[in-house]
Amino acid sequence: MTNAADSDLIQLRDLVRSFVDERDWDQFHTPKNLASALSVEAAELLEHFQWLQHGRLDELGPDKQVQVRHEMADVLVYLVRLADKLDVDLFAAVQEKMVLNREKYPAEQVRGDARKYYEYKK
Ligand SMILES: [Mg+2]
Repeated sequence: MTNAADSDLIQLRDLVRSFVDERDWDQFHTPKNLASALSVEAAELLEHFQWLQHGRLDELGPDKQVQVRHEMADVLVYLVRLADKLDVDLFAAVQEKMVLNREKYPAEQVRGDARKYYEYKK
């Protein structure tokens, strides 16, 4: 099944593939290295929020907003690349996981409650 979001992810996958191939970097892109890089980029994203009260747009300011945007792109690039190497359909994976999340966090049971499932389940 192909839809707009699915084809957007395929376009991103192909864009990243081209970038990697042009540089002969595929040899470095083992799943372990990509998962590590993804984690590093997520930490770089988090660093922009460190010590802020909330990290809302007005608190970030224009320069930080651009930096956050770029770190978010880095995270997605490595996620898309990892999915490519492990033959994971990210769109399908999110759909699958959201079904599980709905089961784990029934809306009528957790509405307005931010606790983890094991904190309210009996
Ligand atoms: Mg980065």
